[in-house]
Amino acid sequence: RLVLALVEDRTRERRVEAVRRDFVANVSHELKTPVGAIRLLSEAVHEAADDPEAVKRFANRMLTESDRLSRLVQQVIELSRLQGDDPPDSPAPVPLDHVIEVAIDTSAIDAASKRISIVSSGTRGLQVLGSDEQITAAVANLVANAVAYSEPDSTVLVATKQTDGVVEISVVDQGIGIPNREIDRIFERFYRVDPARHRSTGGTGLGLSIVKHVAATHGGDIRVWSAEGQGSTFTLTLPHHSFNGIAGRTY
Ligand code: ADP
Repeated sequence: RLVLALVEDRTRERRVEAVRRDFVANVSHELKTPVGAIRLLSEAVHEAADDPEAVKRFANRMLTESDRLSRLVQQVIELSRLQGDDPPDSPAPVPLDHVIEVAIDTSAIDAASKRISIVSSGTRGLQVLGSDEQITAAVANLVANAVAYSEPDSTVLVATKQTDGVVEISVVDQGIGIPNREIDRIFERFYRVDPARHRSTGGTGLGLSIVKHVAATHGGDIRVWSAEGQGSTFTLTLPHHSFNGIAGRTY
């Protein structure tokens, strides 16, 4: 039995190592694109020195690429922390109203630039047990996606609900939607639905894998409903934490 346990341990170690190697290879590949683009664009700026319009255009693209690069680095750090061997933050009661407020604030500038209004509704005063930072990152990723994949002048709704010991946070958009055949893959690391479809959003393909990890480490789950051209609803479910038996208040 001891030998069997050792063999199982080795197999598990090898599998973990393979996943890690795969991740590093993917990250390196993803980093190469924006780094290469920034290098080419800086050469172009040099060559176009006497054409101020062209310099401005190249500089703007450099800004977009470097934003993408910093988002990628930040998400890789988040994801590797979630997958790493670090002990999880000791769970504490997390007030959802504050989580949602921060998540909405994070996307406020992007939303305003497309005249998208983000509204919240549902049950106030709910709490879950876990890591404030991780749950905020998860909800912020869902809101950022809802804004990124919506047309201008639309609305994004963040709704909370409490049922049977669980709390549901739904992020509803009226955006481009996700084709049925792609739904199962969007939670994979680096997976993006037809990148050409929304090149301008400059996503990383890591946001939803972060959400999935946060849901799993908190004993919850993430579900999605979507129809192409109509919109998507992502629902994050987390175990409810009641304090002094006081439930949330519905508005
Ligand atoms: P990304 O950084 O590309 O947004 P994610 O992991 O967050 O990466 O999402 C993976 C893919 O799922 C996206 O590239 C996009 O194609 C699709 N997706 C995610 N959220 C939405 C949404 N609200 N509406 C439409 N498509 C979405």
